[in-house]
Amino acid sequence: MTRLILASSNRGKLAELADLLAPCGYELIAQSDHGVGDAEETGATFIENAIIKARHATRATGLPALADDSGLVVDALDGEPGLRSARYAGRHGDDAANNALLLQRLRDVPDTARSAHFYCVLVMLRHAQDPQPLIAEGAWHGRILHAARGVNGFGYDPLFQPDGHAVSSAELDPAMKNAISHRGQALAALRERLSRD
Ligand code: IMP
Repeated sequence: MTRLILASSNRGKLAELADLLAPCGYELIAQSDHGVGDAEETGATFIENAIIKARHATRATGLPALADDSGLVVDALDGEPGLRSARYAGRHGDDAANNALLLQRLRDVPDTARSAHFYCVLVMLRHAQDPQPLIAEGAWHGRILHAARGVNGFGYDPLFQPDGHAVSSAELDPAMKNAISHRGQALAALRERLSRD
């Protein structure tokens, strides 16, 4: 097994990713188990932030590292909430406030202009000087509803209606969401790449 540091302090992500990557020969280890704290996300794009996080973890541990970054991109808002998805309304992880602010910003936007997508990028660096990071991404397209629906998932799920579905992503069965979402797509792409290498 190749040891791989996960550049995240989210234990839920570690458990999910560890199961998915074990069949590809990777043993995933939390960066906190090596005393590594969170990197400062100073990038201007999702991919820059994922690279910053992966480089921080691999530099600190000397092991290959995997990082992810994700968020919601709303076309009518020039890509907002974007990189600020988790703290759109100010406080990190305040989903209710973030959703309320999103609805307010889209108050006068008609159905035809409420297109949006969730985006996820996964970056693996083999070492701190790796000139060619392995990059896997996923985008899940849909539109923003006028009111919250459903109780599953997290973040903006109650306001996001995926294309091809008559329900919000918070009304989808969680296993179904994981299979088709931006994160599911990025993970499938990563696994494909890793099993090819
Ligand atoms: P992170 O990359 O896991 O930190 O996610 C950043 C933020 O994007 C989250 O806090 C959510 O607000 C939003 N987000 C990312 N993925 C999803 C999703 O699958 N559903 C709803 N919100 C999401």
